[in-house]
Amino acid sequence: MTNSSNPAQAARAKALAWILQGGKRLLIGGQWIEAASGKTFEVINPATEERLCHVAEADSADVDAAVIAARKAFEAPSWATLSPHARTRALLRIADKIEQHIDELAAIESLDNGMPLWFAQGAVTATVDIFRYYAGWCSKVLGTTIPSDGSTLIYTLREPLGVCGQIIPWNVPILMASIKFANALCCGNTVILKPAELACLTSIRLAELIQETDLPPGVINVLPGFGATAGAALAQHLGVDKIAFTGSTAIGKQIVRDATSNLKKVTLELGGKAPNVVFADADIEKAVQSAVKTFCGNSGQVCSAGTRLFVQESIHDQVSERVAQLAATWKAGDPFAADTKLGPLISAKQRERVWSYIGAGQEGGASLRLGGNAWSGAGYFVEPTVFDNVRNGMRIAQEEIFGPVLSIIPFKDEDDAVLQGNDTSYGLSAAVWTRDVSRAHKVVRALKAGRLWINTFGESDPAMAFGGYKQSGWGREFGQESIEAYTQTKSIMVRM
Ligand code: ADP
Ligand code: MG
Repeated sequence: MTNSSNPAQAARAKALAWILQGGKRLLIGGQWIEAASGKTFEVINPATEERLCHVAEADSADVDAAVIAARKAFEAPSWATLSPHARTRALLRIADKIEQHIDELAAIESLDNGMPLWFAQGAVTATVDIFRYYAGWCSKVLGTTIPSDGSTLIYTLREPLGVCGQIIPWNVPILMASIKFANALCCGNTVILKPAELACLTSIRLAELIQETDLPPGVINVLPGFGATAGAALAQHLGVDKIAFTGSTAIGKQIVRDATSNLKKVTLELGGKAPNVVFADADIEKAVQSAVKTFCGNSGQVCSAGTRLFVQESIHDQVSERVAQLAATWKAGDPFAADTKLGPLISAKQRERVWSYIGAGQEGGASLRLGGNAWSGAGYFVEPTVFDNVRNGMRIAQEEIFGPVLSIIPFKDEDDAVLQGNDTSYGLSAAVWTRDVSRAHKVVRALKAGRLWINTFGESDPAMAFGGYKQSGWGREFGQESIEAYTQTKSIMVRM
C-alpha cells in the first residue's frame, strides 16, 4: 500500500515535503540563519541509507551568538517578568501545537531516526503530556518561609538559573528535546539546544512550531552540529549557566571536565544496563512479553532498556525459550509498514558496534538462542538477538550495547538476584516480577537504580523522576526533583 489514502504514507509524504523544502538552519534569537562558517552536514535515513537533506552545522562562533541571544531573552521583560500563569499558557500552547502535528512530527522522526512510525507516534504523544505537566509547575515553583523569633522574616525564592545549554542524543530526539525545553522554560530559563548530528530534524520542526506560538525570540535557540565542536563549545562556554546532557557515560565525563570553566551547573542522564528480575512465582507470560518489548523497543536504543534479564534458575529454560519465540516475531523492515516492529539502528557505526558485541557474546561462551544473522539489503538493521546462560561478568552483560541484544542470566534466590543485579557500574533503572508483595518491595529497595518497576517495565509518567545512581548520571529529570535542577535558591532576611 503506497497510496496516500494510507495514513502512514500520507504522514510520510507530508514529512518528506517539509524535509525537502530546504532551509534547515540554526535558530538564534528568533531567526533561522546559516552557520557562520557556512558549513552544512548530511542527514541520512537509516532505514534506506539515503540522504534526506542538509542542515546548517553550528560551531563555536554560532554558540557565541546563541549565548548572547539567550542572555538577552533571559533578561528581557517579555520573558523575565512574565507571570507564572502566562508561562503556563505558553507551555499549554506548545502542547496544543504538538498535538495538532503528531503525525507529521512522528513521520519526520521515523525518516530521520529510523524508528517505526508507531513507536514515533507514542513518543510524540508523550511529549504533549510532558508540556502539559510542566505547564502546571510554572505557578508551583515555591520558595519557603523559615521560622524565626518574629524580629526577622526569613524566606527563600527559587529563581531560574539563566541560560541553559542542553545536549541531547539521537535515540528518541523529540522526547529528549521536549523534556529539556519544558523543564527549563517552566522555571523561567532560556535554552540553547544542541540536537544530535545523527538525528536533528524533529528538534528543528519542534522549534518552528514553538515559534508559531509567539514565545519571545531567543527563549529557545537550536544549534544542530557535532559534539566535539558545537557541543564542547556549549559545555565550555563562560556565558552558559547550566548544561543538561543526555548521552553516553564517556561523553558525560567530558562534559563535567568542560563545565569546570565557569562551574556551570551540570545534570547528566547517561547509560544503563538495567536488571529485569523475574522470580519463579511471577506471572511469567506477562514478564516475558514485557521483557521482549523492553529490549526490542526502538531496537534497544534506549538507556533504560532491560538488557539483563535475570531469571530464577528453575524457570530459566522455559523463559528463554518463550523470549526467543516472541522476539522472533519482531519483524524488521520499512518503518512505515503496518507490520514492522523493529526499525534499523541509527548508523553503520552503531551496527558495527552491536555486531562486535554479538561476537563477544559468542566468544565469551554465552549460548545464542536467537539472532546472529546478518541483514541483507539496505538499512542498518540488526535482528533481535538473545543470549542465555549468560554470566553477569561477561562483557555483553556489563557494557551498554544500545542494540536489540538481550542477556538472560540465571539466579538462585533473592540475595543472588540483588547481588548480581547491582554488580554493574550503571544504575538507571530496574524491575522485579513476582506475586509476593513483600519480596517485590524488598528487592526494589535493595536494587541501586533511579527508576524501578514492579510487574511492569519501561512505563513512564512525567511526574515520575528519572535519573541515575552510580555512573548513570547526576540529578533527575521529570517529577518534582527536576524543578530543583533548573532553579537556584536565594534566601532573604528582613530585619523588622
Ligand atoms: P552516542 O554515543 O549515543 O551518540 P554521545 O554521548 O556520543 O552518544 O552523543 C550524545 C550527544 O552528545 C550528541 O548530541 C553529541 O553530538 C554530543 N556530544 C558528543 N561528544 C561531545 C562532546 N565532546 N561535548 C559535548 N557534546 C558532545
Ligand atoms: Mg538521521
